[in-house]
Order: sequence, then structure tokens, then C-alpha cells
Amino acid sequence: MPSLAQLFANNRAWVDRVLDDDPQFFERLTHQQAPQYLWIGCSDSRVPANQIIGLPPGDVFVHRNVANVVAYSDLNCLSVLHFAVAILKVKHVLLVGHYGCGGIAAAIDGARLGISDNWLQHVRDTLERHRASVDALSDREARLYRLCELHVAEQVVHLARTTVVQDAWAGGQELTIHGCVYGIEDGLLRTLDIDLGGGSDVAAVATRAFAAIASRDGRAIIPDASERAP
Ligand code: ZN
Repeated sequence: MPSLAQLFANNRAWVDRVLDDDPQFFERLTHQQAPQYLWIGCSDSRVPANQIIGLPPGDVFVHRNVANVVAYSDLNCLSVLHFAVAILKVKHVLLVGHYGCGGIAAAIDGARLGISDNWLQHVRDTLERHRASVDALSDREARLYRLCELHVAEQVVHLARTTVVQDAWAGGQELTIHGCVYGIEDGLLRTLDIDLGGGSDVAAVATRAFAAIASRDGRAIIPDASERAP
């Protein structure tokens, strides 16, 4: 476990490395941020947004909470979404769940953790809505994979139905929402092929996505080989 002093030393070393490559890097960031992407993901320490998608500071706006929940009443998430969409004009929102999520496991196992159970009720809501699909699998690992994917799909639908996204689409703004899953075990990001834009029929896309998830065998999605290409 590195000491706090080590973290500050790491920071100095990182600054030196960045400036070696690009002496104006921080000065430029001072004047503007113009990210094209908003990442909404889990707070899990193994799922660092910028590192996973190889983007430097300035290129991705980030919101993370336990189990990547988009709740209509969550002023924090809505404010991040509003800032990103209405002010920064990001073009893509990535809703990123991850295999191995403790919040998903708590829902599957019916575990009681404490105050966070109130937050994780959002995950249990997904489980209740898709009880038949999850219960069709007897293997715990398979149930975890499936709930993880279903939960991403549900949160993508939530995003599409927020006033922020609805207003952006009504105004003709270019904005697409994508559902993705990250694999802690292999470091790979996979798409759930849920992509919603201004002209999308949200309910129809959601129905197709839920059916596609239910039709899989309950194993991790195999990442598209083309996504591995440089
Ligand atoms: Zn998680």
C-alpha cells in the first residue's frame, strides 16, 4: 500500500512526464475543456474511466457512483449530465457497467450491507423487472453477468428519458447514448449494442436489447475482435 507521500511524489513524476511530452499541456487545459464523451460508470477502483479508454485529462467528462445507477431523482447525476450535454455539448454518453460489480452481487445474493442498500435498491429494481430472465439461469456467475448487462440496459433507458437528453434531442443536438460493459478480468470494454440517438424509438431499442441479453448463454460477452484493432 503506497503512503500518502508516495501519492504526491507520483503526482510530481506524472506532471514531469506529461510536460516532457507536451510543455503546454496544462496551460492549454486551463483555458478550455471540450470533451466529446461523458462516462457514467461504477465507483469501483478497478474501473478508471480515462485509463480504460486511453484518453488524457480534458477528453472525457466523468460521473461515477456505486453500480453505475442513473436515477431520475439523483440531482448529482442529473447535474453532471446537464453540464456535459447542455453546456459542454458532448456527443456521446457511455453508460458503463462492469462484470465483477459488488453492487450487482449484493442484489443477486440478497446481501444486506447497510445504508448503501437504499442506493442498491435501484439494482434490485432491475432484478425484479427481469426476474424471469435472471431466474432462467441457475449458475450464480451466469446470473451475475446477466444482471450486470440488464442493469446497463435499464440505465441507458433512464438516461434517454431524462429531461436533459429529451431536450437535447428535441433541439436537434447530436447526442448518442451507448451501453457498455467492462471486464475486470480481461481489461476489455465491450458494447452491448444499445445505441440511442435523437430518432430512436427508446422502448423498441430497449425491448430488443433485453431480448438479446436474455438470448445469450449467461457468459461474459466476447469482445468484438475489430475493437481490438489499433
Ligand atoms: Zn461496480
